[in-house]
Amino acid sequence: MKNFSIAIHGGAGTLIKGNMTPEKELDYRNALQLAINSGYALLEKGASAINAVEQAVILLENNSLFNAGKGSVFTNAGNHEMDASIMNGKTLEAGAVSLITGIKNPISLAKQVMFKSEHVFLAGEGAMNFAKENGFLLENTDYFYDQFRYEQWQHIKDSDSFQLDHSDKKDTKFGTVGAVACDQKGNLAAATSTGGMTNKKWGRIGDTPMIGAGTYANNKTCAVSCTGSGEFFIRGVVAYDVSCLMEYKGLTLQQAADEVIMNRVLSIGGDGGLIAVDAQGNIAMPFNTEGMYRGFKTSERDAVVRIYKD
Ligand code: ASP
Repeated sequence: MKNFSIAIHGGAGTLIKGNMTPEKELDYRNALQLAINSGYALLEKGASAINAVEQAVILLENNSLFNAGKGSVFTNAGNHEMDASIMNGKTLEAGAVSLITGIKNPISLAKQVMFKSEHVFLAGEGAMNFAKENGFLLENTDYFYDQFRYEQWQHIKDSDSFQLDHSDKKDTKFGTVGAVACDQKGNLAAATSTGGMTNKKWGRIGDTPMIGAGTYANNKTCAVSCTGSGEFFIRGVVAYDVSCLMEYKGLTLQQAADEVIMNRVLSIGGDGGLIAVDAQGNIAMPFNTEGMYRGFKTSERDAVVRIYKD
């Protein structure tokens, strides 16, 4: 049996350290721990990496602390438009959805696109029709309501600003979520899910549902899930760039992940981070923001959960 491991993130948009209370910190830590444990439990039973990353992301989507699923931020029009993607490193199959509304677990819809359609990426009305045809039930808008998030939107809804989770100038509590895993067979998978940016309009889509930008997995190299200023992560083709640096330049997982987050993305003005795993079960989690909700567990090591650079 090979080493196996899972890593998760709850976004690079952590609360500013001075505003984090011990109670809030505990809530975040518990939520992250639960997601790690449930994904890891599947891996331990021999489940595939793809099922483990879906399971971990579902738990994070169901928790309103994070900007995905239940906790998705408000758009300019006052609703919630969610994006998600998933990729299987063994087959290079991938599924992605964008601009979807009312779906409890966007990551499961992305997985369904991967398994049940001939396509990779479905968006908007078409994606919603696909969801209905495949039996996905819709939650009503109350399910996605959160008072803090609503107030956050009220502050900027009449302006032209869009608020990023990871802005160091704002005290924001939201975070895109993601998971990467290496299973007992050495197969890799990555999954990412988000509500995007508060007050977004014009059908704005970030890096999260874009294979190669926010999510990528390839057994030859690594599985990657990103969080950060989506526009820069798209332009930097960040997740694929980590894989390319390993494949073409022979960098280790840690070297490749650090190079992309600490040099390349920063040099074009992007902030954020990523989690990544390779086929030996090694994990890297670099970020260039104040913090990133994150954690991992491997067959060699107990779970670790961190928020800031501690
Ligand atoms: N990358 C996400 C987006 O741009 C936001 C985030 O990770 O916080 O939609």
